Amino acid sequence: MADALALLGGNKLAQKDYFFHSTDTGKEELLALKEVIDSQVLSGFTATPGASFYGGVKVRELEEQFASILGVKHAVSFNSGTSALHAAVAAAGVGPGNQVITSPFTMSATASAILMQNGLPVFADIDEKDFTISPASVKKKLTRSTRAIIAVNLFGQPADLFSLRDIARKNNLVLIEDNAQAPLASLKGHFAGTIGDMGVFSLNYHKTIQCGEGGVAVTNNDYYHERLCLVRNHGECSVAGMGIQSIANTLGWNYRMTELQAVVALAQLKKLKTLNAIRVELALYLASKLKAFQFLIPPHVCDECEHKYYFFPVKYSSKELGIHRNTFVRALAEEGFPLGAGYVEPVYWQPLYQNQIVYGSQGCPFKCQYVDQIPEYHKGLCPVTERMYKEELIVFKMCRYPNKKNDIDLLVKAIEKVIQHKDALRKWEIKTAGNA
Ligand SMILES: *Cc1c(COP(=O)(O)O)cnc(C)c1O
Repeated sequence: MADALALLGGNKLAQKDYFFHSTDTGKEELLALKEVIDSQVLSGFTATPGASFYGGVKVRELEEQFASILGVKHAVSFNSGTSALHAAVAAAGVGPGNQVITSPFTMSATASAILMQNGLPVFADIDEKDFTISPASVKKKLTRSTRAIIAVNLFGQPADLFSLRDIARKNNLVLIEDNAQAPLASLKGHFAGTIGDMGVFSLNYHKTIQCGEGGVAVTNNDYYHERLCLVRNHGECSVAGMGIQSIANTLGWNYRMTELQAVVALAQLKKLKTLNAIRVELALYLASKLKAFQFLIPPHVCDECEHKYYFFPVKYSSKELGIHRNTFVRALAEEGFPLGAGYVEPVYWQPLYQNQIVYGSQGCPFKCQYVDQIPEYHKGLCPVTERMYKEELIVFKMCRYPNKKNDIDLLVKAIEKVIQHKDALRKWEIKTAGNA
């Protein structure tokens, strides 16, 4: 019998801390930052009509490059993915009483962006193959108040975007893609983020490329482009000077990106393909190794898709080892490997939805004179999402820079170690069940 499990007092297998850095920031970013500092212009924005309404030189260079890489007409930078999402929802014309259908299996910001516009998130369940929003489920949630759909290209894989786009077009809805996790993933030769009316990227510390905090929205539509820019930069100051008649949803936050973030993002953008290639290579390697374990089902990749493996999602079947997924994950985590049980809880489980308290304590925007009917947020609403969260899904976070194949080999060893100790784990599970 091998060493005892770390969970049960043995030594852990991992020799290093796997949690930190996945984006390779270094010399290039530092040099670019120095240039900006020396220029003394750390931000180029002013809230007035004219060139500086659209930001500084580096911000605009980042936007040009982003648009050119993705093959879209416009890219608009923001100070976060969340602010870009909010601006996209505003640009889509969402306001009080409007419903926006989205996935409950996402970072909370996807849905919060809807609330920020006083809209109502409506949650449609996910597809159990790939964890993205199911078009069939979306169809069931359509009402006369529906205004938009936000699809999330989760874990690096595009949602069923062409089906969703058909639904959007037939029903006169705006399709927004939350593409924070899937830069340069593609579907039928089209980049994720460019298939809907607007697509949103994140450049936060955890994402495939980063500038600390940042985001970008892309679109081929001139109208949405203008609206995104207004929301980013104090739109109220500029609508008159720009001759804009329809001022609804032009209230502007300060969502502007600095020149410092822009140059870091530019340097990172040059590394995006390489960083993605590392993810894909390690993911395919891990998938090949997992064939030895029938109880771990590697990610499904949709037809004509390129998956970029922001995370490596695996479905766990508890029958084989006779232990709960959480015990398996806990044991592996104690061996020192980054992974998570279930990703995040369904968004509608959050107190905000359960209590319907957002702006003030009176229940707005849920209880509002423009709301026909408050959408449902009760537990059990999206059973596939809840099952993935509670029972089946494991996300591995190893398939990324700076890891190598030998790190994946070590992870596989850790899985073998856990399997060897399944009897001890079963006992541990029973013993701890009382105080879990
Ligand atoms: C990271 C993330 C966001 C938010 O991006 P920030 O830049 O952190 O604001 C939104 N949606 C998804 C799916 C994300 O992963």
